[in-house]
Amino acid sequence: MEYGLQSDFKIYAGGLGILAGDYLKGAKDYNYPIIGLGIMWKQGYGDQMLDEKGQPFDAYRNRKYDFLKDTGVVVDVQIRSVNVKCKVWLVDAFGNAPLYLLDTDLPENADAWISGQLYGWFGEERIAQEMVLGIGGVKALRALGIKVDIYHFNEGHALFAGFELLRERMEGQGLSFKEAVKKVRKRIVFTTHTPIVQGNESHPIDRILYMGANLCLKPKHLSALGSLDDKAHFNMTVGALRLSKKSNAVAQLHGVTANKMWKDVKKRSEITAITNGIHVPTWVDTAILEAAYSKKETAYDQLWDAHLKNKKALVNFIQKRNGVKLDVNKLIIGFSRRAVAYKRSDLIFRNPKIIEPLLKNQTVQLVFSGKAHPLDDAGKAIVANLVAMSRKYPNSVVFLTDYDMTIGAALTRGADVWLNNPVRPKEASGTSGMKASMNGVLNLSILDGWWPEACEHGVNGWQFGDAKEFGDQAAQDLHDMNGLYAVLTGDVVPTLQKPT
Ligand SMILES: *Cc1c(COP(=O)(O)O)cnc(C)c1O
Repeated sequence: MEYGLQSDFKIYAGGLGILAGDYLKGAKDYNYPIIGLGIMWKQGYGDQMLDEKGQPFDAYRNRKYDFLKDTGVVVDVQIRSVNVKCKVWLVDAFGNAPLYLLDTDLPENADAWISGQLYGWFGEERIAQEMVLGIGGVKALRALGIKVDIYHFNEGHALFAGFELLRERMEGQGLSFKEAVKKVRKRIVFTTHTPIVQGNESHPIDRILYMGANLCLKPKHLSALGSLDDKAHFNMTVGALRLSKKSNAVAQLHGVTANKMWKDVKKRSEITAITNGIHVPTWVDTAILEAAYSKKETAYDQLWDAHLKNKKALVNFIQKRNGVKLDVNKLIIGFSRRAVAYKRSDLIFRNPKIIEPLLKNQTVQLVFSGKAHPLDDAGKAIVANLVAMSRKYPNSVVFLTDYDMTIGAALTRGADVWLNNPVRPKEASGTSGMKASMNGVLNLSILDGWWPEACEHGVNGWQFGDAKEFGDQAAQDLHDMNGLYAVLTGDVVPTLQKPT
């Protein structure tokens, strides 16, 4: 559904898309025969704005890009039995393997809005978007004459591509549903990203039939693929687990979590774990890389100088955007994540007795950024709280609006410390921490996502919370908050104060 190739090319929302964009760049670097398929979002993901009270809202506008190449290909997808034309664009301007994008914004379409807003809707509209991506995507491959060995579905959003592959074999070759599934499974691998059950999209089967997304599949076929206990609902992740030969989780711990989460899904593919990565040239400062590989005796000084250069750049960036001048000689902690309850962006503020003195004398400077999903009011309340904190502590707390790749890069290069405090084990991977790490920025994180694989406490960063999991939310928050304060005051602050 999304690709993060370049900051201003707004067809991405967050980590899922950045990963996809990074993969296409890596594929190009190593000359791997991979192409991407996605949607040419006209408005994309909303811009985050703040009203006078500090409440966030999403603003949308039409966007135009001059690097899109017209392939001359148009494919048809029947949505609610109405024919929708999808124009196919090629994007290859960012050092990426070819990315083909489907676009419904054509004068002949009544439903031109389908490729309007990324994650703007949930019900019929979401299915329509996924039909364009999946069904339109396979048709685009055929029309472009691209031969495919393996289809990779990045999240369940792309699953209808599997339906089109089944249709080709059932209608085209006269195979039975069972035979077709057996053949199609051999061609599909799937990556699951979402360790929260509710985050895995599910639709009433009636809705899928009404939209025509089922193609030639009967209701019993749909429930055989995508239902758990409730035969009237189709879960896109369950469907993808059953229609793939192999599935990936995105970190080793996430592999354990995903296998537990989907243990009741019979006849599904094995879920193995492949830890995410980042595209180094996109995210890592070259001066840091030079220092890291330097054989000179002065390599450590070189590394520190490169870090200070990046930290100063961040301080200037913040001053330009928010008018706040942080102290480059004092600790800067960065935190930017999607604003959603389990990531607990405001955990560090929860005991003012401890944090307030550290903020008032600027021992700790905090820089936040992050958007909520368009329909997540709880997430928006978290943003409003962070903004309120930046107004309460104007010299030491900053909130940068409209988190995007530019802010992500500036923060993961220029902060001293990268904070991460999700409720374990809900963070699937967390690639921003990898960006930070490779830029010489120290992670201060709960042992979740990729961090248990990399953390050497006190060496390349710190852990807190000791991987303890409580069923009770309040107990979990208290434990993690105390762990955070203990490491912050006992280890992190003294590290920067050490004479160099
Ligand atoms: C790297 C990145 C992400 C993903 O980071 P997480 O650690 O998964 O939160 C999201 N958004 C932007 C803009 C990024 O650069």
